[in-house]
Amino acid sequence: MKALVLEDIGKLEYKDVPDPSVGSGEVLLKVQACGICSSDIPRIFTTGTYHFPTVPGHEFAGEIIACGPGVDKGLIGRRAAVFPLLPCGKCDSCREEEYARCSDYNYFGSRCDGAFAEYIAVPVWNLVLCSDRIPYSTAALCEPASVAKHCVDAGKIRVGETVAVIGTGTIGLLAALWAKIQGAEKVITVGRSDKCFAFAKSLGIDCTIDSSRDDSLNQLLNLTQGRGADVVLECVGRPEAISNAILYAKKGGRVVLTGNPYGDICLNKDVYWKILRNELTVTGTWNSSYKSSVNNWRETVEALETGRLHIDRLITHKFPLERYKEALDTVRNPGIFSLKVMFEPEGGKV
Ligand SMILES: [Zn+2]
Ligand SMILES: [Zn+2]
Repeated sequence: MKALVLEDIGKLEYKDVPDPSVGSGEVLLKVQACGICSSDIPRIFTTGTYHFPTVPGHEFAGEIIACGPGVDKGLIGRRAAVFPLLPCGKCDSCREEEYARCSDYNYFGSRCDGAFAEYIAVPVWNLVLCSDRIPYSTAALCEPASVAKHCVDAGKIRVGETVAVIGTGTIGLLAALWAKIQGAEKVITVGRSDKCFAFAKSLGIDCTIDSSRDDSLNQLLNLTQGRGADVVLECVGRPEAISNAILYAKKGGRVVLTGNPYGDICLNKDVYWKILRNELTVTGTWNSSYKSSVNNWRETVEALETGRLHIDRLITHKFPLERYKEALDTVRNPGIFSLKVMFEPEGGKV
């Protein structure tokens, strides 16, 4: 089969690789869509990954075309998104079904081969089945949508509250949409790009704040009767965004940190004081919940199936695998407005 293979830092190649072998308890998935995650960019160009060669790609969906031993053949022909984390199943976190906290996990697209490929073998446990009404590219967005749902859940939003979301990338916009669904009265998106603001408004997000202006805190206070936001969701991971998250929260408010850090985080003393004096609840989240009781993936699929969540418009570009250079340039070029750039095989199914 064809795949994009990361041979070394900065060295991605479109080439033939052996077809995956399908073990017991696994299915063979024909990949129909795989998103490029912002985390794939440093993985490919600067930091590399755990070992080379590796096929990147962890935001994917496809059609089940074969089953390994012990798997119900009735799955053949079904479409599914895939939870990309392969937990050890033995550690304390796994016993609590907190798989994102597993101390010895594997991961499609970083620790083991992912879905920038025509086919991938996937354990049945990781499949999130969905109906044929959901396009494959939308199903591939289940990964960022589940990460955003996990973030929003940590904010414990109550009906009628005001929520500020810092970041206008895929996760930030998805978090804003989930916050609305959870009953937030007002959702304020905080970002730096006019194009993103226009896009956020077109998704039905109430207000936007330009954080590149010095008065962003005043803008927020004006929108919240001088109180601050009940909940702030931080989806950027830069020091100034984390400072703003703390400053934007009302007294006794909740701050959720979800953005991956780009470097060391240093906070001004005055900002740090706010956590103490305003008695803020600051929570971190990582990945998504795949518990039997709270499964963000099934929640996402259900919200898509029932039409409560509309996310296909977040996909701004689609490319076949062989046009990977163009696809990656689209993500990296600040002159091009892109949100989710997705690989679809040539002639891929909708
Ligand atoms: Zn991702
Ligand atoms: Zn584990």
